[in-house]
Amino acid sequence: MATHLDDVLDSARGFLGERISTNASLREQHSHGEDTNPPLLPDAVAFVESTEEAARLLALCDARRVPVVPFGAGTSLEGHVTPVRGGISLDLSRMTRVLEVNEPDMDCRIQAGVTRQQLNAHLRDAGLFFPVDPGSECTIGGMCATRASGTNAVRYGTIRENVLGLTVALADGRVIRTGGRVRKSSTGYDLTRLFIGSEGTLGVITEIQLRLHGIPEAMSAAVCQFPALAGAVETVIAVMQAGIPVARIEFLDEQMMEATIAHAKLEGYAARPTLFFEFHGSEAGVAEQAQMAEALAEEHGGSGFRWASNAEARNRLWKARHDAYWAALAYRPGHRVLTTDAIVPISRLAEAVLGARADIDASGFTAPMVGHVGDGNFHTTIMVPDEPGALERAWALDRRIVSRALALGGSCSGEHGVGIGKREFLEIEHGAESLAVMRSLKTTLDPNGILNPGKMFLN
Ligand SMILES: Cc1cc2nc3c(=O)[nH]c(=O)nc-3n(C[C@H](O)[C@H](O)[C@H](O)COP(=O)(O)OP(=O)(O)OC[C@H]3O[C@@H](n4cnc5c(N)ncnc54)[C@H](O)[C@@H]3O)c2cc1C
Repeated sequence: MATHLDDVLDSARGFLGERISTNASLREQHSHGEDTNPPLLPDAVAFVESTEEAARLLALCDARRVPVVPFGAGTSLEGHVTPVRGGISLDLSRMTRVLEVNEPDMDCRIQAGVTRQQLNAHLRDAGLFFPVDPGSECTIGGMCATRASGTNAVRYGTIRENVLGLTVALADGRVIRTGGRVRKSSTGYDLTRLFIGSEGTLGVITEIQLRLHGIPEAMSAAVCQFPALAGAVETVIAVMQAGIPVARIEFLDEQMMEATIAHAKLEGYAARPTLFFEFHGSEAGVAEQAQMAEALAEEHGGSGFRWASNAEARNRLWKARHDAYWAALAYRPGHRVLTTDAIVPISRLAEAVLGARADIDASGFTAPMVGHVGDGNFHTTIMVPDEPGALERAWALDRRIVSRALALGGSCSGEHGVGIGKREFLEIEHGAESLAVMRSLKTTLDPNGILNPGKMFLN
């Protein structure tokens, strides 16, 4: 007997052809992200190439109550793309066209499957760049859906501050455009921000209007090492409180530094708590910012400021930082990684980081730490051995670190999102009434509950 899924497959083949498939290896590839949740297979995978195709597929699935899980590059870290109720994994990674670049207005329109690396390669000759830089090769649609950020957020903002508007295919197949090209507008509800961070539960983002930035006249990176964790973290707090407009300020603890030195073959550095800085601006501005940061670092025990002003040296340093996750994996071969993503107000950063370190030491896990500390956001990469009970103990450690961050006025996730792994914290963080409003928005936009079911909310 034909099922609802068969109906969808038959109809969708009419416009997607072989781009909708039940092939076993494709289903396996779409059964998980970069996380530790158990993989679950979708019934089929569909590769859409336009807004119209996404909308037609959604309308078919909605009419037959078949779940749809939007899929970008599958790099998310909280079980976001796991099809917990089966259905169709709707893959947008082939939507890679840069639709327009408006150089005088410094904005562009792209399809949702474009990656930041592809966009920046496209913009290279225009003297413009897109600054939001997660340490993965992910799609910008996925970044919108997870409200992602990266090392530049302290200066240029997260994806939220860099999206001007969206095209979204809704669950029933309607298509809406939100926002526009202007830098500000005071008309209507802010639907753009509603979809940013909605994790594929409210609609499928197919096109994005982005803000771009001019490449600064001067850029300089520096590395400073500290005898103890506290000095590094206190330097970050002092730099931010002094209002120094750093472009990046990233923290690596001694274990992460050891892993990174080995993985990136960095020479001349010790396995000690370390800050990576980057300054952007005019030649004089960069020099002044750097001097002020150096003086504050010295006050907190930092020494040996090492500069990297040419592009090659800077890129090498930041590639090493971006590859911290892979460095951690190589540090303990055969282990899986569970990454925490707590964020606290900057004045509470020392308590949060030192408390996390004490929790890690008490747990017996190896867990190198790294963080976008200028925003108060830090990650512990808990290395989980292949032993009975280890994953449960790692989750217990994750929960201790999150609980402290919440008690300090922070959030369980600065940039990775909720997915499956952080659902239990949503009510604690936002309160029951706010959660009820979120649920009613979900019901309004997706009354049949087909979009990424089982995510964001506990039931
Ligand atoms: C090594 C490594 C480093 C990382 N570093 C960072 C970091 O520095 N900062 C950071 O923020 N994150 C980081 N991440 C996490 C991850 O890369 C981000 O969450 C990223 O934004 C996910 O994008 P994606 O294309 O892989 O999305 P996916 O994993 O495919 O999807 C993520 C979620 O978004 C939904 N979704 C995807 N595309 C769309 C769309 N077009 N419309 C609607 N919903 C959609 C999915 O349903 C899912 O819920 C890192 C991950 C790894 C593995």
